[in-house]
Order: sequence, then structure tokens, then C-alpha cells
Amino acid sequence: MAVANGVLVRASTKEPLFSFGVIADVQYADIPDGRSFLGAPRYYRHSISVLQRAVRRWNEQGNIKFLINFGDIIDGHCPKDKSLWAVHKVLDEFDKFDGPTYHMIGNHCLYNLPRRKLVSLLKMPTDSDRAYYDFLPFPEFRIVVLDAYDFSCLGWPDDHSVTAAAMKLLGERNPNTDKNSSDGLVGVDRRFVKFNGGVGSEQLSWLNDVLQDASTHQQTVIICSHLPMDPGSTSPAALMWNYDEVMAIVHQYNCVKACFAGHDHKGGHSVDSHSVHHRILEAALECPPGTSSFGHVEVYPDRLLLAAAAPASCPGDGLISSSVSVVRRSSVGSSADGVGVEILLVLLVKCSRTGIVSSHTKISLRRFITKGPPD
Ligand SMILES: [Zn+2]
Repeated sequence: MAVANGVLVRASTKEPLFSFGVIADVQYADIPDGRSFLGAPRYYRHSISVLQRAVRRWNEQGNIKFLINFGDIIDGHCPKDKSLWAVHKVLDEFDKFDGPTYHMIGNHCLYNLPRRKLVSLLKMPTDSDRAYYDFLPFPEFRIVVLDAYDFSCLGWPDDHSVTAAAMKLLGERNPNTDKNSSDGLVGVDRRFVKFNGGVGSEQLSWLNDVLQDASTHQQTVIICSHLPMDPGSTSPAALMWNYDEVMAIVHQYNCVKACFAGHDHKGGHSVDSHSVHHRILEAALECPPGTSSFGHVEVYPDRLLLAAAAPASCPGDGLISSSVSVVRRSSVGSSADGVGVEILLVLLVKCSRTGIVSSHTKISLRRFITKGPPD
């Protein structure tokens, strides 16, 4: 038992301080199933069923304080005359949750609607048109939501200075005629494609101020972004353009313990050079009918736990939700009172009708320690 910021904390407690639901890349569209550029099946109509199951589950749990939706709420293939209808259809499902949902902008959102319209539709808690913000769900914890397309070719008017600057950058870094192609680019340079974006200078400065303030107040910070920010967690072609600039700021402080993202549909996990966990959430869009990909994060004084919540209809549910609680324990710093701060991450796993977990999860199973479910 120790005292941190005037609050009694235990090195380990059974009940989380709070929990929040997570889901990524719903990418709903009222169109037949298709495939990604690389051939991965996409279930455009089923993805909203994944969201419906998720909301039902979160409400049943009764202890989920809020949701974070990691962007790409609808798909770029959604007929443009149905974009608004599709966004409302998905938002109606989020509205069935007994609490607030915090959204962020993804590239597919911007294929359909301009950012100004999205900031309003998604009810972002900002006092301007900006799509980045932070909030305190608990006195010692701060959530930061980044706008990964603040600096991008998407969503701004064609004649906007940001569009011109972003196109100039892509022209310098990507020689392909089709700027959505990373052909010929090597390693992390593959991130310089039009479907990615970056954090602009004003937002970088804001992030620095937020992390400075969080450090002063001894808060633990969780960063949420549509785009991944660590090369070890994702395919290079899915990385944020200036992930290195963002992480250079993050690494100046010791308050950020985990970064969550979407966009790279297969998911991923890494621990970077400063012991920050990066967890990319698997896409709801690529769950075959009857399967799901969503979860919730339990926040304890000394750790985070990302838990899968597979639906009862899914064979293997018991297996995945009760025994595939895959955790890695790693020391990630100490709080001001000297209590060791640890993060435990449970993989957000997909379950399929055949009970086969994704190859990513199999790889991760080998990389992680297996442990029983959280109690
Ligand atoms: Zn995306």
C-alpha cells in the first residue's frame, strides 16, 4: 500500500479504477463483401454487426465507462450519396452504449466527408475545428486522442495550404504516379503514401504541452491515434508520416505508458526503446460473419489490461476469453511514490467460427507469457 497524489493505491488491486471499450476500423458500407488491395477479405455489411455485438457486450458488462473508436467509421467504397446516411447508421449503434464514445478521424472517414463535417458529426470535445483532444477519465490518468490526418492530403479543401504542403512532401518522398502506392519504397519510407498522414506542428506543440502538464501532475497517459507510431508494431506502409517526431516528444517524458492505434487491420504489438507499449487493434471490418474483434482496457493503479470480449455465439469463446489471456509483464517506470508501475497487455484476439486464432495471435502467443484470465 502506498500513497500517490493523496490517493491510497495498492501495488495490485482486483477491481480496475475504470475500464473503457475499444474498437477499430468498422469501415461499414452497404455494399457486397470485397477484398483489400492485398487481397484480404472485407465484410462491409457484417462490420456493423461486430459493433452491435460489442455495444451489447459493453452494456452487459456494466462497468465500461466510455468507448474509444479508433477511426475509419465507414469505408471509402461507400457510395458518396450514402456517406452521411452510413455515418449516422454507425453512430446510432455507438449511441446505444450507456456512456460517451470518443472518436477519431481515419483516412476512410475523409474519403467520404470533409474534416469539418466529421468533427461536428463525431461530436469531438474540442472548442474549434481541430480533431485532437485530451480528457481525464480518472484523476491520475489522461487519455490523449491524436489527429493523425492533421497534416495530410485528405479532408482539407483542394486549395488549402495543408493540402499543397502534404502533396509537396509526397512528391519528394514517393516517386510513384499513384501516391497510394508504396512500390519501390524501402523500409519505413513505405509510409509515405496518400492514405497516411501526420501530426502538424501546432498539434505537436499542443502534445508537448499536454505531456508536460501530465508529468507535472504525475498522471499516466495513454495515447490513441488512428495511425500506428512504432515500426515494430505495424507494417511500414501503415505508419504515421512523422511518427518519429511524435515519439521524440513522447520519449522526453515518462508519463506515456501505452499507445493504441487502428489502421493496420491485422493488428500488432511492440514495446519500444523507452518501454512504451504500442498495440494496434485488429479491424472489425475483416471479421468473417459470426466473428468479432473488440475489447476493453482495464486500468489499474499499476497496470493496464487489454482484454478480448468474444461473443457467446462464437465457438471457442471460452477458449479465447478465458484461457487466451496473453500477457506480457514489463516494468515501464516508477510512479513518484516509488511504487513500480507495470503494464500488462492482454491481446485483443479474434475468434473465428473454426476456433482458429489469427496468425498474428499465434506469433504473439509464442512471444508472450500465457496466464489465466483477470479476476
Ligand atoms: Zn485507416
